[in-house]
Order: sequence, then C-alpha cells, then structure tokens
Amino acid sequence: MRYEITGTTRLTCLLGSPVAHSISPQMHNEAFRLLGLDYVYTAFDISPQNLPDAVHALKLLNVRGYNLTMPHKTAILPFMDELTPAAKLAQAVNTVTYESGRLIGHTTDGIGYMHSVKDAGYDILGKNMTLLGAGGAATAICTQAALDGVKNIYMFKRKNASWKTAQDFADKVTRTTDCQVFLYDIADTYQLKQALSDSTILTNATNIGMAPDISNSPVDSSLLYPELVVSDIIYNPRKTKLLQEAESIGCPTCNGLYMLLYQGAASFHCWTGADMPVEICLLYTSPSPRDPKTSR
Ligand code: NAP
Repeated sequence: MRYEITGTTRLTCLLGSPVAHSISPQMHNEAFRLLGLDYVYTAFDISPQNLPDAVHALKLLNVRGYNLTMPHKTAILPFMDELTPAAKLAQAVNTVTYESGRLIGHTTDGIGYMHSVKDAGYDILGKNMTLLGAGGAATAICTQAALDGVKNIYMFKRKNASWKTAQDFADKVTRTTDCQVFLYDIADTYQLKQALSDSTILTNATNIGMAPDISNSPVDSSLLYPELVVSDIIYNPRKTKLLQEAESIGCPTCNGLYMLLYQGAASFHCWTGADMPVEICLLYTSPSPRDPKTSR
C-alpha cells in the first residue's frame, strides 16, 4: 500500500529519555502503512525540565496524541485536562490524546497485559492473582485487573522505602473497586506459597530475570504447580528462567511480548479508532536488546 507523509498527515510520537532504542516508531508506522492511515509516529528525546515546553509545543502543532515513557509517566499528570479511571487510579499516563483543545491521559500498560492473558486463552476474571512487584508496570496491571474484575490480588514487594506508597495504592484500589488488594513482603515465602496456592495466575512484574541477569527467577520453582498460569511481563529474553521452570513443571505460560504489542495497540486505537494488526506488526518489530529496561 502506498504510504507517504503529506500536508494532512497527523503527528503521533513518543516523549521520553532515552528513546533511541524504542520499537514504537516501527510498530505504529508499520500499522499506519498497513491500514493506509494518514498518520506518522516519531520519537523525541525530552529531558524532564523540557517536558512543559514539549507539551505546549505539541499542542501548537495540533498533535493527535503521544506516548510517554521514562521518566515522564507521572510528571505528565499536572498537564492533563482529564484522566481515564485507570490513569486516575494508577496515577500514571502513558498515552495522551489531544481532543478539541483538551489533553486526555490514558494508561494502556494494564490494558495490554489483560488483553495478552485473554488472548493466550486464560480467563482470570473473578479469580485471584499473585502479582510480584509494585513498580510502574505492576501498578498498571493491578489497576486494570481490579477494574476488569479480578477478585483478589496478592501483591508482593520488598519492604523498602516505597512500601508505604505501595500500601496506600493497594488500599486505594481496594476502596474504589470490587477487588481486594493485599500487600506482602516478597521475602515471606510462607505467605507467597499461600497466595500461589489460592491463585489462578502468577504475574512477574519485577525486573528479576530481565537481560542481562537472565539466570535469576523471582520464585523458587518448588512453589509452582501445573494448574497455575505463569506469566512474565519481561520480553527480553522472551523466555525467562521463571517461564522455563514453569514450562518444565507443566504450567501454562504467557510472556511479555504481547503485553508490549497490545499496550501499543490500545494507544493506536485511542488515536485512530482502528485496530492495530498486531500479528503482522510482530513480524516487523523485534524488541531491541540495547536497552531492555526502557524499550516500549
Ligand atoms: P519499576 O517501576 O522500576 O519497578 C520494578 C519493580 O521490580 C519494583 O516493584 C521493584 O521492587 C522490583 N524489583 C526490582 N529488583 C528486585 C529484586 N531484586 N527483588 C525484588 N523485587 C525487585 O519498573 P517497571 O517499569 O515496573 O518494569 C518492571 C519490568 O517490567 C521490567 O522488566 C520491564 O522491562 C517490564 N515491562 C514490560 C512491559 C511490557 O509491555 N511487556 C511494560 C512495562 C515494563 P520494589 O518495589 O520492592 O523496589
């Protein structure tokens, strides 16, 4: 299909620092090309002090919307005229739409995760989840899982300086949704064993197992059992040590690549109203090994 930038082409982009490694431009531009949509996606390296100017400039340019990656997902909040319920609960925005002079903040990481689990054939609504980590990705997943109808979430993290923030977040989700979120110390093996035996799915949203430290797993394999769905949102490597061990025990598994694609697809839908052809995009996009921490 013919694809060229013209006088009517709408701009979408990524703001972050760094951004050079990002696969989002390839993914979105390939999808625009395949669907014949008059949009283009580029990436801008924006430092924290330049974020206000960048937001102002993009309004002047009548941008259709943009993605935020590190370090801007929280810093962007004061600039938003409106937040989706998930973005409000997670207090983070990774997608902005610019509509009739108003900036609307969305968070699509959790949508991407829930979509990837459903797409892999696992029904976790009304069931319990054990979630490892309480960082940006874990918070987005917890928020969307709670809004979608997961019954209880057993969240595990280290007892460190961010414990209180995580506890406040867990309490807020419990207060404002029908899901109960319980926070536990990740070093408490007894509690972890209890949680796993009561869960349909285990979700690793920590960095443990991410390249280059691929020899680590966040869970002792003796705690896994064949009926437990084991998912890891890490996509580099595609098969983490946790997933390898889970597979050898006979657990159904799910890796992080489709979460990455579906969170992008959700942003794409916010801007264009169209469904991103993720299967085809998968053929054209391969996560860069250069900076697995921040690639999106
Ligand atoms: P983040 O905000 O920095 O959070 C990292 C989390 O990992 C924190 O909860 C931290 O624990 C925990 N953690 C790190 N090292 C640990 C250790 N040694 N022991 C126990 N816990 C540890 O990062 P993030 O943005 O949430 O990303 C987390 C992972 O998800 C990364 O591997 C990233 O690549 C991946 N990710 C994937 C996608 C996708 O689309 N597939 C999207 C976003 C992120 P504490 O809270 O206890 O400090």
